[in-house]
Amino acid sequence: MKRPKQEKTLVLIKPDGIQRSLIGEVVRRYERVGLKLVALKMLVPDASLIEKHYLIDPSWKQKVGEKSIKSYKEKGLVPPAEDPLKIADTILERLKKYLTSGPVIAMVWQGAHAIKIVRKITGGTEPLSTDVGTIRGDFVVDSYEIADFSNRSIRNIVHASTDSEEQAGKEIELWFPEGPISYSLVQEKILYDVNLDGILE
Ligand code: ADP
Repeated sequence: MKRPKQEKTLVLIKPDGIQRSLIGEVVRRYERVGLKLVALKMLVPDASLIEKHYLIDPSWKQKVGEKSIKSYKEKGLVPPAEDPLKIADTILERLKKYLTSGPVIAMVWQGAHAIKIVRKITGGTEPLSTDVGTIRGDFVVDSYEIADFSNRSIRNIVHASTDSEEQAGKEIELWFPEGPISYSLVQEKILYDVNLDGILE
């Protein structure tokens, strides 16, 4: 493992998170675990940015479609289509509408295992089935069925990068071409240093 403290992940507070006045709550949850905020901005994205964002991962369409079908079948329900790519096209169109509807906050969080830890704190895609204690489990009532019934995206407050440092790195580059800020936080000594020298006077 090289430079574990350096792992970075992208988080977006989606328009519903901002409209629900949850900016402070979301930031607090990532901050208190010990991650470091290294970039932050508010913007209204356009549809082309959203499309680029989701299509960075060439397998995203297949995965998002399969995940939706699986969720329907696990609940004994009939999915809206059997072709994952067809479902994904609809999801992407809805995402463009959802994420361009108002300001979003884009952030980069850094620290050991940042990608996995941020996903754990964020919770799974569907608020209905994800764990209590996660952002998506604690602050929203929404599900695949309710979203599909209303022809809209699942509203789940935040986006967080998944999978690999490579994928997260591409997302960060897209939202922050200027790059994050490199600085040290005093708490990193407690989190990562081998010897806690200099505490006792
Ligand atoms: P995540 O955001 O958990 O990484 P995905 O990348 O699979 O999840 O999906 C991106 C976003 O698209 C989700 O956060 C959600 O807002 C929306 N979404 C995914 N699947 C559906 C669906 N079947 N119907 C409506 N919206 C969906």
